[in-house]
Amino acid sequence: MSSSADNDSAEERELRQLRVAASDAGLDCRGNAEILSRRIRSYKQARVEQAYRYLLVVDFEATCESQNPDNYQHEIIEFPLVLLDLHEGKVVDKFHTYCRPKLHPKLSEFCRQFTGIEQDVVDSAPSFPAALAAVQAWLQHSDALTEPLALAADCQADVATFLRLQCSLDGIPVPAWAHYWVNLRITFQRHYALERKLNLSGMLAALGLEFEGRPHCGLDDAVNVAKIALQLAADGCRLLVNQRLDQNKSPYYWRPVYKAEAEAKLRSDAAAGGTTTSRQRGRRGRRHASPEAAAAEARLDDICDDETEESLSDLLYLVNLRNKCGGAGGSSTR
Ligand code: AMP
Ligand code: MG
Repeated sequence: MSSSADNDSAEERELRQLRVAASDAGLDCRGNAEILSRRIRSYKQARVEQAYRYLLVVDFEATCESQNPDNYQHEIIEFPLVLLDLHEGKVVDKFHTYCRPKLHPKLSEFCRQFTGIEQDVVDSAPSFPAALAAVQAWLQHSDALTEPLALAADCQADVATFLRLQCSLDGIPVPAWAHYWVNLRITFQRHYALERKLNLSGMLAALGLEFEGRPHCGLDDAVNVAKIALQLAADGCRLLVNQRLDQNKSPYYWRPVYKAEAEAKLRSDAAAGGTTTSRQRGRRGRRHASPEAAAAEARLDDICDDETEESLSDLLYLVNLRNKCGGAGGSSTR
């Protein structure tokens, strides 16, 4: 008679072994094989120093129809923020308000069902500019703006669609802290070397976590996105901004931010008042023989960060290019 272990597929056996290895190391045993193998690998590596002290997680809800027409002008109706301290690995504060839409003051039946937001709630809510002023005051009250801070969301739509459209409708600038953000869907795919990007419920499922609360309630969504960010940090991911607004990139209004640009932004933020990490100080000292060598080095950093197999040929190409161009003149951090 065969035992149940004999009937297990190779994948199931691998997952079981990974769970045992994670448990032996005193690590969280939840998650699929990709998550667990990355978690165990990062446990064996040196502890990662986070670039940002604070991560500000946002998840807007907006007016909508069952089929949003092209160029539909969404208006923000729920504005939740969850402030994470990445050094402490925990939620330190939350902000929440609903907002009153002005173009479509009456919510569609679909929107009420989808978001769970009732008409009387938005009728008595502040306008978006008033809500944004309250956010600004809340941020200033915490010490979040005096330390390195990055915005994060589970996709690009929160800033590039909802916030951009809303600010343009109200004739106000997008706040400086929202010009760049961490698209956690991309960070998640890269860090755990997944074939595909996953949405919020997919990322939670991969981590073996349950959705807490009601999906499409902005605050509950933000709390769940925040859990993913904390898990990424706990699994050795150094969170960096990877997208930014770009008004010239119609119709999407955003562009990618590669690692070299993200690190440069960190340095300029630090020079403008934040603190500097030791890793940044190391990089600042690097000198290059030529602009081509500097560019090759910067792209090399991006690719090394991905750690995916498909990057290997790019990596070799860039190593060759860097050698041909004279390489880095200063001390390298790797
Ligand atoms: P979510 O964060 O997934 O709750 O979505 C944010 C906003 O995107 C919602 O408040 C809607 O305005 C819009 N949205 C998301 N999914 C849909 C959908 N299936 N149909 C219409 N609008 C949607
Ligand atoms: Mg949401």
